[in-house]
Amino acid sequence: MRLTREDIALIEKYNRPGPRYTSYPPANHFAPVEDADALWASTRTSTDPLSLYVHLPFCETLCWFCGCHTLTTTDRGRAGDYLDWLAREIEITARELRPGRMVEQLHFGGGTPNFLTPEQLDRLGDLLKTHFTFAPDAECSVELDPRRLSPEHVEAFARMGVSRASFGVQDCDPAVQEAIHRVQPPEQNTAAMRLLRENGFGSVNIDLIYGLPRQSPESFARTLDEVLALVPDRFAIFNYAHVPWMKPAQKILERHGLPSPETKLALLQLCIETLTAAGYVYIGMDHFARPDDELVRAQNEKTLQRNFQGYSTRAGLEICGLGISAISQSADAYRQNEKDLTVYKSALEAARPPVARGYVLTDEDQLRRDVIMRLMCDLELDFDTFGARWGIDFRTHFAPALEQLQEPADDGLITFTNSGLQVTERGRLFLRNLALCFDAYLEPATTGRYSRTV
Ligand code: SF4
Repeated sequence: MRLTREDIALIEKYNRPGPRYTSYPPANHFAPVEDADALWASTRTSTDPLSLYVHLPFCETLCWFCGCHTLTTTDRGRAGDYLDWLAREIEITARELRPGRMVEQLHFGGGTPNFLTPEQLDRLGDLLKTHFTFAPDAECSVELDPRRLSPEHVEAFARMGVSRASFGVQDCDPAVQEAIHRVQPPEQNTAAMRLLRENGFGSVNIDLIYGLPRQSPESFARTLDEVLALVPDRFAIFNYAHVPWMKPAQKILERHGLPSPETKLALLQLCIETLTAAGYVYIGMDHFARPDDELVRAQNEKTLQRNFQGYSTRAGLEICGLGISAISQSADAYRQNEKDLTVYKSALEAARPPVARGYVLTDEDQLRRDVIMRLMCDLELDFDTFGARWGIDFRTHFAPALEQLQEPADDGLITFTNSGLQVTERGRLFLRNLALCFDAYLEPATTGRYSRTV
């Protein structure tokens, strides 16, 4: 995999800190709660269906690259205690919602949801069913750690109606695994896939990460061969986000040195070539799916969505986050729960929702959230259609953004058409940079506390 001189010049030009745009404005704009009612107002009146996200933060060991909010322990009793508090939060949250709102999506993330014992999972399933109404075709999914997955876990998730799973592999090379403190022999991946298929999981995603220490295009090619042999339905290929000022354990990875931006881009290009040659369709910025997968249909029909959990197919859902650090997203607000377990518990003890920070979106924020989402999902913008939907003249309203986009256009990252703009294949690798042009909160010179875009 060789990058051209032009590719390298583009990396030098565009590799800068920037948000991932899983929300707009990005989560660092959320602020301590002053007016809790404003954060809940649209949630209380809405009849939109719900997407529940349940954060289960426990992990037995810490992977040094991890950017998630986790608690490291081997004590299952702590998960039992956590469930007691989660039960209170579920009760309080359900009371804020109008009766009859359907749950159309449920996602268990973490941490490691299969840290919980099968009995604890059954209890969690009962709690959710008691307080929420699930649509018959609700899409229920879970993030799993194959290193600690038993048949009983998979059966417990299946009893809860979960039929989609995602598991982290990250990299199959033993030297990389040692460097990131996540040793996961191939037999564990094979066993996890077999268990999931035997229990009727119709959609299985594998996560890989590029940009980790000791990775090279040669080693990553072997990783791709190994994971392709598992025949997953989807892949999520994440750009490693190095943010040691937020996640101090990531500093350990610097011992081995991190791959250069050129190597990272070569790794991403290798993924794109290898996975598309194997028949997967490239979705948005970092996902791949089989041609018959609904993500592909959603991309073609321009109904793809992007949220905190990545790309998704269901539009118009209000995200309701439960558990420490979980983020909720309503039509006009974000709410993020307390990250500290003790503070989370004291809010619940006082019968208050454990919200730490939030953000109420202005009309302009909602408009920009939509334009960034459509750009990152559809890889094109039709100015007149978009303008008509929001009652604006797109070209006038976004004149400064369009001016900023002239340079990426000159560099071949987008093309302007009669009706709008289209992201080119090369531009896809710099999608975050293109989205930055529509971000009203980012000064052009910002070197901010974000991970780098490449
Ligand atoms: S990567 Fe997954 S298993 Fe590893 S520490 Fe993070 S949440 Fe836990």
